[in-house]
Amino acid sequence: MTDTGAPVQGFEWACHACGASGPLTEDFSCPRCGDPRSLRALAEVPAALFHDRPKSLWHYAPLLPVRDPFRAVTLGEGATPLVPARRLARSCGLGELHLKNETLNPTGSFKDRQVSVGITCALERGCDTVAVVSSGNVGVATAAYAARAGIRAVLFMHGQAGAGKIAQACAYGARVLRVDTPAPSEAFRLCLDACAAWGWAHLSTAGMYEPWNVEGAKTVAYELFRQYGGDLPEWVVAPVGGGGLLGGVWRGFLDLKRLGLVDRIPRMAGVQAAGCAPLKQALDGGFSFQESLRHPWPDPKTIAGGIADDILFDGHTVLPALRTTGGAAVTVEEGEIEAAALALARQEGVLCEPTAAVAVAALSKLPGAGPDTRVCCLVTGNGLKDIAFFQERTPGPVPVRPALEDVRKALED
Ligand SMILES: [Zn+2]
Repeated sequence: MTDTGAPVQGFEWACHACGASGPLTEDFSCPRCGDPRSLRALAEVPAALFHDRPKSLWHYAPLLPVRDPFRAVTLGEGATPLVPARRLARSCGLGELHLKNETLNPTGSFKDRQVSVGITCALERGCDTVAVVSSGNVGVATAAYAARAGIRAVLFMHGQAGAGKIAQACAYGARVLRVDTPAPSEAFRLCLDACAAWGWAHLSTAGMYEPWNVEGAKTVAYELFRQYGGDLPEWVVAPVGGGGLLGGVWRGFLDLKRLGLVDRIPRMAGVQAAGCAPLKQALDGGFSFQESLRHPWPDPKTIAGGIADDILFDGHTVLPALRTTGGAAVTVEEGEIEAAALALARQEGVLCEPTAAVAVAALSKLPGAGPDTRVCCLVTGNGLKDIAFFQERTPGPVPVRPALEDVRKALED
């Protein structure tokens, strides 16, 4: 991969483990402690940026690490609605609940934010092929944005990837490989080797390998600031696989704090299935990021395939996000995930995939939360991606003849 352009201005590397910072160089590992570092925006931006209604996440281009936002690869990602969920709030015993509906992104998940930013950066570095490891959504997003950019996408789908997502990715024309392993970390090794061998851009949403595209997740925080009129809720709740979403949203809040727009960052709750919970394990064990990597989850098992990651690929941001905000790692059982997906659809009219439903399932388990607590739940992926899940758990249509009597009888049950 050849870097042909000018360096990105207005950013530095920042280490959340030891606090060291430094100028952007090729190597993003921290020279002091060895952890992966994250990009930190240095730009001063007018407060009006956060009060104007965005048309897409590129509204926030001054805080994204690209040289020329006018050449961004975009399908209109971001700028998703924040909708009140009063019935669900009541049934979870919360004072106020809003859903940040990320299912309305162009390919149906929040990953569009990261991939739009990541592929724009890759093009600026002169790449003509992008590759990702994926359980589904980031593969789908990469396929769509590569089609948009007119470049090749190679997807390394691992054992957790569902048939619907694979079909969606294939429809966009990506080269889809099914890696014969249940462990995402093994698929990563293969993808990284291929990128190194053939000069492809690595776009997996895993900050320990690729610090650029995770920047897209920060824009959720910027949007929430505007949508809440600056008065952020007490909790922000999201599913955690590698941790890039929650870690990214936290870093977005840090930007808002640095810019003097907020003095308090919401408590961050990261939710995992009990059958794959390396975040909970790391938090309970007091692990550093490096220690968490030495304790992969041995046998990920959950219907929430999008977050069945055996290690925390963004542990260097999601662990401090939870630890510094008084946050929590919450786990939910399989039955709770199923019930939450159906409750969200029936009580609020929002259809989410099981992976997204884990956050909904955790809403009644937030430590100390009650009838005075304000909560924002990120709904990360569209239920249409896994329609078989709903077909298996809902009654099918009742056959009727074209006669009122049949309709009356059918509705009696
Ligand atoms: Zn460090």
